[in-house]
Amino acid sequence: MSTDYDVIVAGGGTAGTAAAIAAARDGARTLLIERHGCLGGAAAVRNVLTLCGLYTLGETAHQAVGGIPGEVIDRLRQFDAITPPQRFRGVFATFEPEALKRIFDQMTEEAGVDTRFGAFVTGATRDGDRIASVRYADHGGETTVTAGAFVDCTGDGDMAAHGGASTRYGNEDGVNLGTLGTRFGGIPKGVTVTAQQISDAVAARGFPPGTVTKDRCVIVRLPFSGDMVVYLASADYDPRDAGSLSRAEADTRRQAWAYLTAIQTIEGCEGAYLVSTGPEIGTRESRHLNCRTRLTWDDIASRRSFDDCIALGAWGAEWHDRDSFVSSFDYPPDKATYQIPLSCLHSVDTPNLFCAGRLADGDRKGGAAIRVMGTGMATGQAAGIAASLTAGGAFSAVETIDRLRAAGAFLTPEQTFPVPA
Ligand SMILES: Cc1cc2nc3c(=O)[nH]c(=O)nc-3n(C[C@H](O)[C@H](O)[C@H](O)COP(=O)(O)OP(=O)(O)OC[C@H]3O[C@@H](n4cnc5c(N)ncnc54)[C@H](O)[C@@H]3O)c2cc1C
Repeated sequence: MSTDYDVIVAGGGTAGTAAAIAAARDGARTLLIERHGCLGGAAAVRNVLTLCGLYTLGETAHQAVGGIPGEVIDRLRQFDAITPPQRFRGVFATFEPEALKRIFDQMTEEAGVDTRFGAFVTGATRDGDRIASVRYADHGGETTVTAGAFVDCTGDGDMAAHGGASTRYGNEDGVNLGTLGTRFGGIPKGVTVTAQQISDAVAARGFPPGTVTKDRCVIVRLPFSGDMVVYLASADYDPRDAGSLSRAEADTRRQAWAYLTAIQTIEGCEGAYLVSTGPEIGTRESRHLNCRTRLTWDDIASRRSFDDCIALGAWGAEWHDRDSFVSSFDYPPDKATYQIPLSCLHSVDTPNLFCAGRLADGDRKGGAAIRVMGTGMATGQAAGIAASLTAGGAFSAVETIDRLRAAGAFLTPEQTFPVPA
């Protein structure tokens, strides 16, 4: 059968972009389909501007990712667009989204990825146990494209669900809350705003019940502008349903304006103003692809070894509760790295389908630990190489690992190295 592409990646977030670059560098004719006009996903269109999963969480942070995420860090540094490791519960780095968007354009172009912006995946067909084609809509109508292997990085599992692969929504014991990333300007760079000050300011405003949701989160300042970013305005909704999503979008934007009035009461923040919301609400969790392995928190807590380890995780288990709007965080054992297997990115019933990023298969806590963007770029790189091999008819976990190693991916703790804060 002739195909248009070797590999088709749906969704150009941090995971999908890494997957497409990895597949193309591996020699695969690669199509990347993205509904927005830029790459980066949450990092570009949801104001999620803190990269987690790059560093271990102990006293001395070690860089836990090499390969494509390692290159992204280096390129962000060349733009002076990323901070050194910072701490709030975990260890992360804050970055400028415009620099990341430009870097992803450069890296996909250099790799020879065929990128389609403004293209929404609306369908997929199946031939036996394999996905055969994907349909996307743009202003010209609908187009069908074929490939030998597919990577779903839509976060919502759209391609997998349309293609009849086994998926599930969230986990049996719950689905994480969604939150609107919000950016405030007009706060002088010398003014420090703490999470406690925000909590106190929200309490002191005495909002009527239902006006706002969360009162505590990480607070960061962006490297170029000094704009302050918070993840506060939250909603309980179903991202698969446009009606539910629309109510959440509007309600969290209303909340953002209420939070502004609280922030303006903090000393030094009297001139604060709203720079941007989102533009879209951040869905932390939606569908997962049901894969050959579901990574559990027990696997992580016991530092389980996998023969098919393709990346090191470093982040902990976050839970953002839909009823209480309270967030909690569990650290990984020893605040050190743990192994992520390829089999939690490989569909259980569709051999030519892989996933990465927040679609990766994990239980409530395991999935929450590996979905973050630094780790998502690492799982994306692995999924891209595995898909390239599959398209060539020669999928093997051993060969995927060999190629990942050759591409600089970190697969053992010995490869990690300390990074000054
Ligand atoms: C409020 C909030 C705070 C967070 N905080 C952090 C943090 O501090 N650090 C961190 O590392 N992570 C954080 N996360 C988690 C992180 O943002 C996600 O887990 C991560 O972005 C997942 O990457 P991804 O590439 O899998 O998905 P996404 O970033 O969601 O990218 C998916 C891409 O697919 C595209 N897409 C979706 N459907 C289709 C379709 N049908 N057709 C075409 N394109 C499609 C989307 O436009 C998007 O570009 C946070 C998340 C939220 C919501």
